[in-house]
Amino acid sequence: MTDSYTPKPGYSYFCPCGQLFLTLLVPLTTLPERQLDHTFVVDESLPHIAHFLTGTRYYIIRYDGGYEQRIALLCRRCSVECAYALQTAPGYLYLNPTLFEERTVTVSV
Ligand SMILES: [Zn+2]
Repeated sequence: MTDSYTPKPGYSYFCPCGQLFLTLLVPLTTLPERQLDHTFVVDESLPHIAHFLTGTRYYIIRYDGGYEQRIALLCRRCSVECAYALQTAPGYLYLNPTLFEERTVTVSV
């Protein structure tokens, strides 16, 4: 008997417009926080279900002491940028915690 199809508690994150954006098996608040802008860092190797659209091009953000190239991760319905990824650190998502509404769900992964 394997537990790979056992439903597990999950945490779904919704755009302000109500569209599902991302589902995780751990609450966002337990993930590391990026000091620069207080986004939460999601390692894409962790189990997750993505419901967002990835932008088509990188854009440059300047901040004190440097700049970085980001690609927008967009809500499927309203195209708000709820998160971004970095060109220099592929495999991570940076989620803006001020936008999301959290709901607990049951997922099979
Ligand atoms: Zn939206």
